[in-house]
Amino acid sequence: MQADSRTGEVSRGEKELSGEERIMGMEKSLFGLKPPVKLVLVDVDAVKDWVFDTNKLPVVRAASYMLQQVEKKKLPDLLKKWEIPREAIIFVGGANALFAAPATLGDAEIEKSIKRCYGEATLWQVGVTVAISEPLWAHQMQASLPDLTAEGVAGCIAKTWSNVRRKLRSHRQQGKEKDAKKGKPAESSFGVRVRFLQEKMRFLKAMRESAGHEEAHPIVRMCQYCCRRPAANKDQIGGERFWVCEACKQRAEQGRNVRNGTKKDELSVQQRLLARLREKTGNRNLMWSKDLDTLAGEGGYIALIYADGNDMGRLFNMLRTPESYLEFSDLLSRTVEKSVLEALKSVVDEKSDNVPAEVIVAGGDDVVLICRAKDALTLAVQIVNAFEEEINELLEAVFERQSMPKATMSCGVAIVDVKYPIRLAFSLAESLLKEAKRFRRACGDGTKGTVNWFWLKAPVAVTDAEPLFEQAFEKKGGRDKVYVTARPYFVDELKRLLELKERLCRLPRSQRKAMEQVLFDSIWASYAYVGYQAARARDEEQKTLRETLRFGFWRNLLPHHPIAGVQSVEYGFWWQERRFGETAWRTALADVLELVELA
Ligand SMILES: [Zn+2]
Repeated sequence: MQADSRTGEVSRGEKELSGEERIMGMEKSLFGLKPPVKLVLVDVDAVKDWVFDTNKLPVVRAASYMLQQVEKKKLPDLLKKWEIPREAIIFVGGANALFAAPATLGDAEIEKSIKRCYGEATLWQVGVTVAISEPLWAHQMQASLPDLTAEGVAGCIAKTWSNVRRKLRSHRQQGKEKDAKKGKPAESSFGVRVRFLQEKMRFLKAMRESAGHEEAHPIVRMCQYCCRRPAANKDQIGGERFWVCEACKQRAEQGRNVRNGTKKDELSVQQRLLARLREKTGNRNLMWSKDLDTLAGEGGYIALIYADGNDMGRLFNMLRTPESYLEFSDLLSRTVEKSVLEALKSVVDEKSDNVPAEVIVAGGDDVVLICRAKDALTLAVQIVNAFEEEINELLEAVFERQSMPKATMSCGVAIVDVKYPIRLAFSLAESLLKEAKRFRRACGDGTKGTVNWFWLKAPVAVTDAEPLFEQAFEKKGGRDKVYVTARPYFVDELKRLLELKERLCRLPRSQRKAMEQVLFDSIWASYAYVGYQAARARDEEQKTLRETLRFGFWRNLLPHHPIAGVQSVEYGFWWQERRFGETAWRTALADVLELVELA
């Protein structure tokens, strides 16, 4: 590209115009001298503040549904009112939205209306942050479409921004047009611009969070569903009456309509998944569970799975046009939904009409779902595997000649008592996911995601994974650091551990319990104990136990774990690992025994 094209000037000289210069020229003749559009990024704190502020499943379900309704109906209606065409909505879903708005629309007006849009539908319970860019040339957003000619790009701009143009013209007729400075398009792709907005968003959110939430007066009767707002109403679940707040009342009523609904026109993620599950299992009576106790079943423990694509920002940054952005986010959503569907199919019980799981979010690159504790890690592995396989195949097909980085997904699984506040379980899963991602960045080769889990056996309100791990797994007092765990795992590693779990299941429970105990006593004692048990055992059990005594066996199971030193220091199922600058003894045997216990 020639240097002078960056000034935005259209050369009328003899020489051939570059494609970019020609587009710029066309755009200026269309829009006049001012950049015509702004990018608007919306972020809603919907999950913690709105969806998970109660353990009543119908209320949780309805909250998720109502949010999707805002995204599918209210927000597009608002944009329509502003005469923003459909093509200008780059994405909306998963409590996020990105769209282009006419630059003539004031920032304050945009922010106020967006906040009202989400606020009214969620009874003003969610925090909404809106970040708005400087006015931009459509050309800057459009960048280059490799498979179109210059005229084609201009045509595309003209179509997408026809409304903007109309607005600008009427604006000019009112005589308000002033001379503007020369536009100076930067040489960055569309993804980078969005990235910039995201940074702005982070700052705005930090500002908002530091302001804190208002608290209810302690004397008033509190809502029995969420315990967060004053009660003003009554609701009934299974014959039992509860005092509830307005937000919970509305969600509870909405929830009753959603459970069985498969209304074809306005399908939410939940409704779509249920319809597909009925199709795939051949059970037409299949439905979501009526409450968390039913979902949990006999075990009394549930799991909250939070999965999220890794480094998606990096992939998005490579996309140069709003169209490819839209296409890619759409591709992600569909892949995520499909992965969840496949995984769910495997846990539906033939003899039951209840789906033993509840999908809260399945879109964008996010999955949030609640399931039985015993299914959790199998589901996590299946979702991550299905997502990675499918999306990378699609990416290869779409970006044939370019070498795209692999798309991967990581996952945090919080296993809690069914009575434990689901909001805290979500925070724990979030923290576990963060640790899983950190481990992936440090030890991965970029081709696989990671999974981390924690089984919270005591109802403590701690939701930070790091202190929980230290308290539960760190052996204090010795000279060396010892952790009776090797979590997190890469998804292929966990898959192999789940296979090993199937074999360890056959050992008597008392023997497994004793092994678990002695692992916490000392490295040498546990090695001796398992050796003794292996000598006493017979056939398959003996083979399994003998294998666990070989370090090479674990090395093969866990190829990504950073064993310390050139000459690795190992002792059967114990080895030294160097992670984040700290060397410590670790074992995966205790983790497999916990997997057995969960099943
Ligand atoms: Zn409430």
